[in-house]
Amino acid sequence: MMRIGFVGLGNMGFPMARNLAAAGLDVVGFDIATGVPGGVKQGEDVRMTSKGRDIVVTMLPDGDVVRAVAAEIIPIMKRGSVLLDCSTIDVESARAVANDSGSAGIHFVDAPVSGGIAGADAGTLTFMAGGTSVAYEMVRPIFEIMGQRSVHCGDSGSGQTAKMCNNMIFGVTLIGTCEAFVLADRLGLDRQKLFDVVSTSSGYSWTMNAYCPAPGVGPVSPADNDYRPGFSAELMLKDLRLSQRAAEQVDADTQLGRLATDLFERFVDMEDGLGKDCTAMLPRLETRKRDQC
Ligand code: NAD
Repeated sequence: MMRIGFVGLGNMGFPMARNLAAAGLDVVGFDIATGVPGGVKQGEDVRMTSKGRDIVVTMLPDGDVVRAVAAEIIPIMKRGSVLLDCSTIDVESARAVANDSGSAGIHFVDAPVSGGIAGADAGTLTFMAGGTSVAYEMVRPIFEIMGQRSVHCGDSGSGQTAKMCNNMIFGVTLIGTCEAFVLADRLGLDRQKLFDVVSTSSGYSWTMNAYCPAPGVGPVSPADNDYRPGFSAELMLKDLRLSQRAAEQVDADTQLGRLATDLFERFVDMEDGLGKDCTAMLPRLETRKRDQC
């Protein structure tokens, strides 16, 4: 039976570890702040949770924490085993941990996810994986338990690259969609009519069609739940910041990505966006005037 170590049992890691145990795998878990789900054995610390395991999954807040945990566990992980990081982190950190793992004879796969807490709970996540084909094949069986789709994107760091590019598109499209609703409101166009047209025209997108920022319009979304997350504005900001950090490093011209980052920065850090779903950008824009700072 596959022996799994799981480090980081927060909003995402907790249900992911639970699903692995429910599928009959031998899972040991550890988190500095929370307990383990039913069916998962409590690890003593990160080292004991990782020792002798075939795959160690990490689901942690950011690149610094992933680097710190990796530095602790790589020296004691079983040679030939896989360190599978599902956190969303910067490409640089993913590549650095991949190098350190490789030097110690351990495979590394960066596999950030899309699908949020609901997807983690239901086992319907999408994994975007970076690493060798050998390592990808080793972790694929557990992707199939925790998710419904995985894409092998290429070498180490390419999972993170795919994720940040996806979320940069999401951020930019979401703001554009919210702006369109506000413009339509002010011109007297009914929101449902705007949805009926756009969702089947060239303006359609995931955010309009499946995650509509307007309450009562389109499928049920956080807008219908008083903008409780969902995908929070601060997680959107985190991912947009990662995209801009990467864009600076490779000298890529991503002006709309930068504008989206600035807007979410203002919303989360200086206004009342913290703790709200990212689609709360719509009620924010509703209260504003043209060219208001
Ligand atoms: P979270 O903050 O709920 O969970 C992170 C967990 O890591 C916490 O429980 C924390 O106690 C634990 N942790 C921190 N340092 C640790 C250490 N040294 N050892 C052991 N445990 C430690 O975050 P989350 O929402 O579960 O997200 C996890 C990752 O998934 C993040 O990188 C996030 O960007 C990404 N993500 C989240 C979502 C979402 O909707 N929440 C969606 C996609 C991707």
